[in-house]
Amino acid sequence: MKNDDSILQPIRLGTHLVPGIWRYMLPDDVFYFRVDPEVRSSCFNCPQVKAHGFHPSIRCCSYIPRVPNFLLGLALMDPGVRPVAQNFIATGYSIPEGSQVSPHHMEKSIGFLSGKLPQGSVICPLLDQNTKKCQIYAFRSGVCSTFFCRHDQGEAGAEFWESLTDLVTQVETALAQWALEQAGFDLGLYFERFETLAQDLEACSNPETGTWSDHARRQLFGVWYGREEELFQACAAQAIAHKKDLFEIAGRQKLRQTPGYDTTIRQRLGPLYSHSLIGEALPDGEPMPVRNLWYSTQLAHRNLQLHRIQASQDSGHEPHSNQQT
Ligand code: SF4
Ligand code: SF4
Repeated sequence: MKNDDSILQPIRLGTHLVPGIWRYMLPDDVFYFRVDPEVRSSCFNCPQVKAHGFHPSIRCCSYIPRVPNFLLGLALMDPGVRPVAQNFIATGYSIPEGSQVSPHHMEKSIGFLSGKLPQGSVICPLLDQNTKKCQIYAFRSGVCSTFFCRHDQGEAGAEFWESLTDLVTQVETALAQWALEQAGFDLGLYFERFETLAQDLEACSNPETGTWSDHARRQLFGVWYGREEELFQACAAQAIAHKKDLFEIAGRQKLRQTPGYDTTIRQRLGPLYSHSLIGEALPDGEPMPVRNLWYSTQLAHRNLQLHRIQASQDSGHEPHSNQQT
């Protein structure tokens, strides 16, 4: 299939670069939002290094991101990113829905956002620690694309970005499951097998790398085991072929979960784990419909604009223009 360069190239949301596929998987209105720069989160001069002792080369990239299968497939289509994506997949960071934290890495992720990285802590393998750059920047997850540790507009800014994180993450999850079905993957069997993995959590992680074990990946990939790249590219091809309808598709997709596996993990790791990591990796309760999350995002954006107007009136200045650079 011919690559779609407009999907492989990142696009701007305000002054922020986000994956190019966002232009299709989110409503157009998102790109008319007035989105402020987040100058206080100056990532290449990370304020959390001084403030909270974050490691200067790692900063907040101390977790395993959930990159959905179709984004991994798009990364494989980009010659510059392909070797990084291939290595990431071959090392066992991914299961059919995309990359996900293994039980071993979840247990080791207790340093997430604490800024303290005890020995054996998780560091994102997609981070180039020398340059401090993300090696799959144009294909990073919704969480990575929307996370700012400080917000120039305070609480209102934080609420806007958190709403957008929730929306994008749910859309990504829905599209990852939809793309698998479209690619001919047996989604029912996958979810059945995921639940059985809870019976022996030790066997799920590779003792040397901490990534998903061969045993777990054989179970979860089924007939696609050994053809992971092919599967992810097939998922990306589906996303490209249906790009005009991705947001509607995500809204229609009935999300499936792994309640047995998640419960076992929660019981097992109990007070050890970071709630912020578990919240992202193992969402609790019924999935929120995409349309509700979209409504919340619109509301949060409106509140952000009201906050800016109020703040400028209080200071006696006109609100700054948010010209895109
Ligand atoms: S978002 Fe992460 S890298 Fe950027 S300033 Fe905050 S902690 Fe540092
Ligand atoms: S994918 Fe990129 S932005 Fe996300 S944690 Fe890894 S290096 Fe950081």
